[in-house]
Amino acid sequence: MQYISTRGGTLGQFSDVLLEGLAPNGGLAVPEALPHLSAAELERLRPLTYPELATEIIGLFATDIPRDDLAGLTSRAYGDGKFAADEIVPLSELGDDMTLVGLSEGPTLAFKDMAMQFLGEALEYVLEKRDRVLNVLGATSGDTGSAAEHALRGLDRVSVFMLSPQGRMSAFQRAQMYSLQDENVHNIAVEGVFDDCQNLVKRLNTDLDFKRAHSLGAVNSINFGRISAQIVYYVWAWLRTTDEVDTDARSTFEVSFAVPSGNFGNILSGHYARSMGIPIRKLVLATNENNVLDEFFRTGHYRPRSSANTLATSSPSMDVSRASNLERFVFDLLGRDPERTAAAWHELEERDEIDLSAELNRFEEEFGLLSGTSTHDDRLATIRDFRDRTGVTIDPHTADGAKVAREHIETGIPMLVLETAKPQKFADLISEALGETVEPDDDTRALLAAPQRVTDMPDDEQQLRSYISERALHA
Ligand SMILES: *Cc1c(COP(=O)(O)O)cnc(C)c1O
Repeated sequence: MQYISTRGGTLGQFSDVLLEGLAPNGGLAVPEALPHLSAAELERLRPLTYPELATEIIGLFATDIPRDDLAGLTSRAYGDGKFAADEIVPLSELGDDMTLVGLSEGPTLAFKDMAMQFLGEALEYVLEKRDRVLNVLGATSGDTGSAAEHALRGLDRVSVFMLSPQGRMSAFQRAQMYSLQDENVHNIAVEGVFDDCQNLVKRLNTDLDFKRAHSLGAVNSINFGRISAQIVYYVWAWLRTTDEVDTDARSTFEVSFAVPSGNFGNILSGHYARSMGIPIRKLVLATNENNVLDEFFRTGHYRPRSSANTLATSSPSMDVSRASNLERFVFDLLGRDPERTAAAWHELEERDEIDLSAELNRFEEEFGLLSGTSTHDDRLATIRDFRDRTGVTIDPHTADGAKVAREHIETGIPMLVLETAKPQKFADLISEALGETVEPDDDTRALLAAPQRVTDMPDDEQQLRSYISERALHA
């Protein structure tokens, strides 16, 4: 399968776009054509385990990786007891046509593990083939950094330099990152805020000589390897929901999904699954108070906000006001026309806005996309309500999804709410919602007590350069 840029031009195969997410013209890598899964194909996939299904689905996109090799990558990514649930992605019914899809069974208790674990294995494989190395340089305010580190730890051809703001993460987040003792993981606590960390990364990345000399790269949410790995659980969730449906009614049995969203990566994978023929009725996008995407899907106007105008909320992983993956959906919306897509992003640069209101009636009709916003009070009320009615405690991000899901539920159509994090990660908010102190479980206690490995550093570009120069891997 060949990949093209949303703004025109070809980019090579899966292995190529795994290493270079962004096209030289600023567009994003997308498959030249999406594969299609027939009803018979889906029945053939039904008995597979999660890693086997991952091999089949990712294999449609990674046609340049031999099947046996790919099977090795997925069995390492989703094997070895890395995920707490045997089935990797467990589904649990919540009543009232709602089902929770457990995407947070991985090592960092959040859905990013689903894609990152595969990406780590795939990167090592491609780098080995090409006799290259990759030094991942990133900045994190908490969650993405730990998912990346847990996926890349212990690899031979990848190292991680992760900047985090000193004293601004929760004890749990610090422990999840800094307790890693692997030699290829470098935690750097910068004296400053998240934006300072991000600026340091930007400055080093714009020095192309330094970047090339040290094989610097990123594993961010526009990486198509991540998007392809996320399609797997949409297929899995549909298969598990229809296991009990009569065989002759299965192929047309529709489900809807509710997706707590930030960078539009997770729900984009749902959009691809639907385009590939999975019977998905509605894709319900949930935002928190940073509701740029809800505004877009209700009005057709995309108006990103600056980081200064992005609120710090109690579902922090969704505090995003510029959705880096949206361009891939807009490309499909505009008939996969690279010129129209490039023109739309040109408009964004000129006017800080894209007006697609002329297409508004197609969002739901053609793509099944609906949206809604959830606030701090909604989050608290939803967590409380789910605990009261089902005994299940959900995390604040999942609560945003569940709140908006409820507004769009249709009788008889299962609404699958994606659980994007575990509540243990957000003990303070859960305590606030339930009015009781949440005691840490044994795993959490052990994690918090583990020795930590982190380097403190002032907000100083020169120091960071020498630190990286001394420790970066070389081919
Ligand atoms: C990253 C993240 C999201 C948002 O996912 P996107 O792919 O960026 O839309 C939602 N919830 C949690 C817990 C996350 O870590």
